[in-house]
Amino acid sequence: THFGFKTVAKAEKESLVADVFHSVAAKYDLMNDLMSGGIHRVWKRFTIDCSGIRRGQRVLDLAGGTGDLTARFSRCVGDTGQVVLADINSSMLKVGRDKLRNMGILGNVSYVQANAEALPFPDNHFDLITIAFGLRNVTEKERALASMLRVLKPGGRLLVLEFSKPQIELLSKAYDAYSFHLLPKMGEAVLKDGASYQYLAESIRMHPDQETLKQMMEQQGFEQVSYYNLTGGIVALHRGYKF
Ligand code: SAM
Repeated sequence: THFGFKTVAKAEKESLVADVFHSVAAKYDLMNDLMSGGIHRVWKRFTIDCSGIRRGQRVLDLAGGTGDLTARFSRCVGDTGQVVLADINSSMLKVGRDKLRNMGILGNVSYVQANAEALPFPDNHFDLITIAFGLRNVTEKERALASMLRVLKPGGRLLVLEFSKPQIELLSKAYDAYSFHLLPKMGEAVLKDGASYQYLAESIRMHPDQETLKQMMEQQGFEQVSYYNLTGGIVALHRGYKF
């Protein structure tokens, strides 16, 4: 049946995503710097700047992985605030936790293994949720967005940082060539794992473009949804509010 097919496809995607991140966890940060030429740091800085974060607030860094955003938010919210790094993958969580502890970040951060589709937090709990390069990997994006809306406080906001659609045809072509040919080769050379980076390229191409993601957020009940293109739309930052 259609339902049966969907269930198999979902389970397959979930186990593929799990394999990819167990496999890349140890070298994830290195690969991020190599493959983006360090630009991911600029995208993350921009996300923090757009977040309106204040001392004392409660933040969820969803699909937080190795914790780049969590580390920055931890400084912004201070001792009276709280940052939860949530990720579905135990290997990524462990690398993130070890890294942040080595950086001396302790008091206001906690770590939770959780699926974005079914968040284990109370209603109206967080001032801010970020999901950076994570939504692409989630099988049921609508369910995940609904779950995020539920755990946000009224007045809270969601920031989605994700690969998107390059706005210039030439850039789009160059970028396709880069991600489908060079990325898997780099993955093979550094990690002996070209397959994971083949997945990365395919997941980027499949991900909804700027307007589609905006509509998906609106359909789940986010308000005043807007987005900024970064690096010519290779990446976009979407922001939406719960009122
Ligand atoms: N946010 C980090 C960053 O920007 O560097 C990590 C991004 S990494 C590309 C994607 C992360 O999403 C992985 O750590 C993966 O385990 C996590 N992930 C995938 N599916 C998920 C799900 N359904 N729920 C929560 N996390 C998920």
